[in-house]
Amino acid sequence: MRAMVLNEPKRPLELRDVPKPKPGRGQLLVRVSTCAVCRTDLHVVDGELLNPKLPLTLGHQIVGRVEEIGEGNANCAIGDRVGIPWLGWTDGDCSYCRSGRENLCDKARFTGYTVDGGYAEFTVADARYCFHLPDRYNDVEVAPLLCAGLIGYRSYRKAGDARRLGFYGFGNAAHLIAQIAVYEGREVFAFTRPGDKATQLAAQELGAVWAGGSDELPPEKLDAAIVFASVGPLVPAALRVLAKGGIVVCGGIHMSDIPSFPYDDLWEERVITSVANLTRRDGDEFFEIAPRVPVRTHTETFALEQANTVLDLFRAGRLSATAVLRIAE
Ligand SMILES: [Zn+2]
Ligand SMILES: [Zn+2]
Repeated sequence: MRAMVLNEPKRPLELRDVPKPKPGRGQLLVRVSTCAVCRTDLHVVDGELLNPKLPLTLGHQIVGRVEEIGEGNANCAIGDRVGIPWLGWTDGDCSYCRSGRENLCDKARFTGYTVDGGYAEFTVADARYCFHLPDRYNDVEVAPLLCAGLIGYRSYRKAGDARRLGFYGFGNAAHLIAQIAVYEGREVFAFTRPGDKATQLAAQELGAVWAGGSDELPPEKLDAAIVFASVGPLVPAALRVLAKGGIVVCGGIHMSDIPSFPYDDLWEERVITSVANLTRRDGDEFFEIAPRVPVRTHTETFALEQANTVLDLFRAGRLSATAVLRIAE
């Protein structure tokens, strides 16, 4: 089968013909239909996430169909459509797993990072971590929901009951989660790169009550802000727009350093927190609410062989939608 393989960080992926993987106990062999490209893929390629499996097949927003089922019980049948997310496996046994925080499992394995992912014609996945996907979405539309949607949703839930909610960085994740926020009656404030009028307009079209540059102050204090951009200086900027008791949620897996700021900006019970990975429960909740909103994705498709081009466009900020690799017809 064909796969786009990372041999070492900071090098382009290599198109290779590799043996089709065999599903082990509890695993599924999945014929990959689509795989959306995430900023995390870039962080892996660029060496910002350390110690990936090498050589590695990237990709953790995978949609495909079950081709073969390994030994043991799987909650699905041959031919079923499944979604494979970032969280690929946990031990189920550590203090985190036992307290409903499998996202923090010490031994967790991550798709397209510590185990092979979906920039390939086939992949294997542990059946227990795969999702059944809502029927209303086709394979291209649903792919971005598997990470930008899911981990975005976890960030959103961490923001609590915030009535006025800000988004710093209005890319893939914010685009999806803002739709849920509006649906749930929150007031959305969108902060973009200063001067990025096109994105500000797009945010307003989605229902944001205010959109401006990250260097601007909104007309009212916010109850929470989610920072999706991987830009550390946005954290103190977000703190400064919060009302008392407000929360800043850092939704990314990697961020540049956060500059120092006066304690006054944190005082009055403001909180800074981060989100790591996802739990299966986040996925179940998200795939229940997403089709009700309905959350719409905005995608641009590419062939598997174009993965390097896609990563270059992403790095340069030149993708106008979520890139989805279309692998099988
Ligand atoms: Zn664990
Ligand atoms: Zn991701």
